[in-house]
Amino acid sequence: MASKPTSAIVPDCANPFDTQLNLQVILRDDPHYGSRRDSYWAVNSRLAPSCFVLPNSPEQVSAILSALVAQKRQFAIRCGGHSPVPGTNNIADGVTIDLSLLTGVTVDTDSKTVRFGAGNTWRDVYKECTKHKSTVAGGRGGDVGVSGLLLGGGSTWMSAKNGWACDNVLSFEVVLADGRIVTADKNSNSDLYRALKGGSNNFGIVTSFTMPLLPSDRIWGGIGVTPTTAIPEVIDVTWRFTEEQPQHPDSYLMAVMSYFPALGGNVAATVVYQGEGVSDGPEFKGWHELPKVMDTTKETTIYDLSFDITLPRDYHNAWFTLCFNNDKRIMQKAAQAHQAFVNELRAYVSDGDFISQCIFQPVPTIIAEHSAAAGGNVMGIERNSGHAILFHYTAMMKTSEQAAYVYPKLQASFQVIRDYAASVENGLNSWVYSNYADKSQDVIGSYGAENISFMKQVSEKYDPGQVFQKLCPGGWKIPDSK
Ligand SMILES: Cc1cc2nc3c(=O)[nH]c(=O)nc-3n(C[C@H](O)[C@H](O)[C@H](O)COP(=O)(O)OP(=O)(O)OC[C@H]3O[C@@H](n4cnc5c(N)ncnc54)[C@H](O)[C@@H]3O)c2cc1C
Repeated sequence: MASKPTSAIVPDCANPFDTQLNLQVILRDDPHYGSRRDSYWAVNSRLAPSCFVLPNSPEQVSAILSALVAQKRQFAIRCGGHSPVPGTNNIADGVTIDLSLLTGVTVDTDSKTVRFGAGNTWRDVYKECTKHKSTVAGGRGGDVGVSGLLLGGGSTWMSAKNGWACDNVLSFEVVLADGRIVTADKNSNSDLYRALKGGSNNFGIVTSFTMPLLPSDRIWGGIGVTPTTAIPEVIDVTWRFTEEQPQHPDSYLMAVMSYFPALGGNVAATVVYQGEGVSDGPEFKGWHELPKVMDTTKETTIYDLSFDITLPRDYHNAWFTLCFNNDKRIMQKAAQAHQAFVNELRAYVSDGDFISQCIFQPVPTIIAEHSAAAGGNVMGIERNSGHAILFHYTAMMKTSEQAAYVYPKLQASFQVIRDYAASVENGLNSWVYSNYADKSQDVIGSYGAENISFMKQVSEKYDPGQVFQKLCPGGWKIPDSK
């Protein structure tokens, strides 16, 4: 029997766009389709859209959006493709708008700003800034996309000095649902400007960002790896660092309890940074005293360090997050729950090829003060009554069977930690960080009633047809707008 042509087997393989638009459209029968789909960092994001469309200008984004709205077609928006939540950045059977061609990084040394396209990675931006002994308050890992991180908030090396990455955006260029290309900054569309800081893909497609250039030359940073026998000391160092970070805002430390075969199995890692290159300040005294089996710290640049802050591709990923008070008891409980989780997985995954992480990042109250000074965002973190810890709990599995087995186990272990934090007086904060959350978590609902109401108003004003609520289902939508 003759085999059917591909287009008959795979439905919806027709170009939905007018060919006169000269768009780069990658249909399912295109030889580049597979590599585009596999360019996503996590295997679970590698869904099969009807096509990928790659605009190379804001005008092309506008034409694409207008066509999709006219045809009432569902779509997803993808920048760096590093979110592991299925459906956030890709869509099965819809159209995926892939912003990878929106590159270009322009440093303006007169205004001390940098403008960059929404398809860049942080490494692209750091590369240009470094030529001017400068940087921006962006992501730590170089491969991560600028857009997802900035629109979701953005935890950075410099958060205690400059706020969340989104607080540092001076201006967004945005394509609205009706195809208009607008600027959102503190003078024009200032409500949209604030809503985009943490509001993710709910208001439009951002095509470029402008951020202030921050002086940065030689910094000190890297990773220290400590045996798990010293977990209590690592937690103590993390707690103290978080309490004292307001006095040392140009320094950073996060702790990562991990099962990582490449590092020899169970470890307690710490990731450190100092913006002036000073490694022996009092804030790092406890860190220097930790026993280490590996230490990659060195004098370097943010650009070079961005190569070291990476995680392997090609795994099925599950992520959960919460924010709790800076309390050693909660960190200890989390480390114990993580160890029990790892023991369970080691018994199940015979070749030991999986990775888990239980990460504690400092969120001192000074970060919210920087956010307010910059005009505010919509995440509502100023409701934290004291210094806090942003907790990120992850598992990386090789096969879909393992991923299906592990997801409920990670979720159950996460729930144990969450319940414990909630049982401690003032232990649990309500904020859920979009960039680390699982699909089951209520991200926008956690921003607080005032912010939700504000986001609804902005959404109704700039997107009266509710295109980004209805046709762009991925990510976290504004409650009651679905
Ligand atoms: C190795 C690694 C390191 C990381 N380091 C950090 C870190 O230091 N700090 C931190 O806070 N987070 C970090 N993260 C988490 C990261 O912020 C999120 O995964 C983020 O979503 C990735 O952004 P992206 O552009 O690659 O994502 P994508 O997966 O492409 O997009 C994420 C979301 O943003 C939306 N979106 C993307 N572009 C646009 C646009 N232009 N307009 C409108 N909506 C858009 C998408 O629709 C999707 O909902 C890291 C993740 C990894 C895997």
